[in-house]
Amino acid sequence: MLTFKNRTALVTGAGRGIGRAIAETLARQGVTVICVSKSAESCGATAAAITAAGGRAKALAVDVADGAAIAKASEELLKEFPAIDILINNAGITRDGLLFRMSEADWNDVLTTNLTSCFHWTKLIGRPMTRARWGRIVNIASVSGVMGNAGQANYSAAKAGMIGLTKTLAREFATRSVTVNAVAPGFIKTDMTAGFVENAEASAKILEAVPLRRFGESAEVAAMTAFLCSEEAGYITGQVFNVDGGMAM
Ligand code: NAP
Repeated sequence: MLTFKNRTALVTGAGRGIGRAIAETLARQGVTVICVSKSAESCGATAAAITAAGGRAKALAVDVADGAAIAKASEELLKEFPAIDILINNAGITRDGLLFRMSEADWNDVLTTNLTSCFHWTKLIGRPMTRARWGRIVNIASVSGVMGNAGQANYSAAKAGMIGLTKTLAREFATRSVTVNAVAPGFIKTDMTAGFVENAEASAKILEAVPLRRFGESAEVAAMTAFLCSEEAGYITGQVFNVDGGMAM
């Protein structure tokens, strides 16, 4: 059991996959979780599951690609919650394609949803955290941002950007005991990867590059993320933790 002192967390992309696993893992540790996703149905389902299991959660549908919507949601949340101590920037999308075939719209959609959203949330939720002199921010990056990945120029750039943002904010917030770290998952079984995880030929090819020779589980990413949010991780900041079966050694 990790130590959490009556904390509240905001998890983006909490409706499905890795974000849902993070929300549920934190809730099991006694953390109150604000579950954000694009659709009200998916964040509502996660919040309902947490509540049914005896935890505390609130669902909030916000399009993280919309800076004004994030500002409005943050303002309301900061009135409702005396403190939001933990921020998990997890919402993300892919729009894959080789560079010469990638449209500007696909570039912009991925950068805005995956990276610019972190800028907005961290600016708004991070400020009261620094005032309170305790906080945890975890950005869910990707092995693609660490190693690069053909067909993912937009996604790799966004994820590498999250890593740069993580290291810079770790330095900016350190004197306020707010830690900022990144988790870089490899191939995890979620809706995002279902297309090739369920394709035997594509799977076999991918797994050749994974030393542990299997896909990861959302719970395995959530376990690392929850640790980074705990009291016990207070001396860790500005780091990137790969949860990738050994891909990016
Ligand atoms: P997923 O199953 O596709 O779930 C994505 C979640 O993000 C959903 O809850 C979705 O909301 C939310 N989301 C997407 N766009 C949003 C928007 N504009 N506004 C608000 N919420 C939005 O994805 P996942 O596989 O769990 O991935 C989670 C994170 O891990 C992403 O940042 C992804 O890049 C990263 N990652 C994943 C893998 C992997 O192998 N799966 C590997 C490395 C990194 P709705 O439910 O409302 O649609």
